[in-house]
Amino acid sequence: MFAQVGRLARCAGLDDGALLQTLDRHAMALSNRERVILEAVVEIAGSAANRSGDAPGLATDLVELACAVIADPAVGALRDGGTKIGTPLRRVLSAKTVHTLRELGLYEDAEGVQPVWPHAGMLILNPVLGCSYGCAYCFRAQEQHESVDWFLAGRPTQVVDEEEIIERLARHPAFVPGGTQLGLHTATTEPFLPQVRESTFRLLELLEERAWGNDVMIITKYFLREQDIARLASFTAFQILLFLTHNAAPAEMETMSAAPGFTEKKRRSAELLAGHPRLAAAHYYRPIVPGWNDSDEQIADALTFGEPLGVTVIGGLKEVPNLAEISRKRGLSLPVVEPDSDDEKHFPPELVDRIVGIHARLGLTSTLVGDQSCGLTTMLTRLKGSAVPNVEATRMYDAATGRRPKCMGLCPPEQLSACGRPPVPDRESVESSLTRLGISAHFRITGDGIYLRSESRPEKWRTESLAAQLRFAVFWEPGEKRAAESS
Ligand code: SF4
Repeated sequence: MFAQVGRLARCAGLDDGALLQTLDRHAMALSNRERVILEAVVEIAGSAANRSGDAPGLATDLVELACAVIADPAVGALRDGGTKIGTPLRRVLSAKTVHTLRELGLYEDAEGVQPVWPHAGMLILNPVLGCSYGCAYCFRAQEQHESVDWFLAGRPTQVVDEEEIIERLARHPAFVPGGTQLGLHTATTEPFLPQVRESTFRLLELLEERAWGNDVMIITKYFLREQDIARLASFTAFQILLFLTHNAAPAEMETMSAAPGFTEKKRRSAELLAGHPRLAAAHYYRPIVPGWNDSDEQIADALTFGEPLGVTVIGGLKEVPNLAEISRKRGLSLPVVEPDSDDEKHFPPELVDRIVGIHARLGLTSTLVGDQSCGLTTMLTRLKGSAVPNVEATRMYDAATGRRPKCMGLCPPEQLSACGRPPVPDRESVESSLTRLGISAHFRITGDGIYLRSESRPEKWRTESLAAQLRFAVFWEPGEKRAAESS
């Protein structure tokens, strides 16, 4: 009944004959329909598993998943009643199977995204997998390439309930109540798709109940209806920091945003937000890709969109798997990306200059910044009424490393000064953050950063979280452990 399970068994540290036997035994107790679903789940798991782990209960987990899918009334609507599995149901099965494998340690995407995911010093909450927005540059495209057909043309599927996500958040070592910035749905779906919207609001309701007070970032390419904005404005226990995305993308680049009337609805969202000063909002203008959406007209369109929001975050395209294949399929030119780089986005200086020039020529007054952290910082500064240092110490890293600057230097002088000289944290704060984040290292504090010293490099998410908690640059140097020093 079950196709090849050899690869899946090897990934799970199991004997393939024994796995088959267990699956067959379970299958005998299932209805015909449940067996068909289980067969599909096992097949999807076999192609998706990409990590080795110890998963003795794999067969039981997959059987439980198949039975839960059948029992779910939302999924029941997708059943055709026969033995064939249609595309919508298959996508749901794929999302749920990928999630189950990830929980068992048998699957990881290229970015290592988790339901509560530490990224860029924040914690991103991801209870849903799958998206129907259709971005050619989607960094989750790899899953589709590997025949796990749930993402690009996908169907948003709930894989963890919101209550469980909030419980996991509370237990996460990077979580500091009232401190760590949170993000909703930024790595696995689009937070205001009609199928995802209620999940976004449920997360916000649960955060309101907990009253921890952590800032919540939401990035959306969708439009916000009047009632969405009223609901967002009703939360008082934390600050919402909204990024509205508009990048003048053609339909080949972003299927949904090019629909007739869609941009007008987004413009209306931006206007409505102006009536809610407590809801901080900024314009997200990325990715800007040479040959895709960088004509002078497209740049003018996008910059004009951002003007009422006061801040526009610009940025280029990051390397994603299968970009060449997807570009070809969609009839887009092959974009240039930065080779051999994890973080760098391709954003040629001539393009940046052209954007700045068009901004000036149009007489726009919004502030142009070049990093998400700068967008967050400027929103916080506006809310506080005085300049707060960059949430990721971006300007400090520019100065200390000599890298291509992420700070565009176009902020008002007080902001430039706050970001250039953030307050130096004291030893006690550093020590308690290190303990909380499970980093075992000696350290010294200088005017340009905290230097950790340990035999092995701490994981990136830990040092990023440390920098975000302290709003100060953090560096690591290899070395023998020796007495801590400070200056
Ligand atoms: S001054 Fe520079 S680092 Fe600070 S928010 Fe503005 S652009 Fe970002």
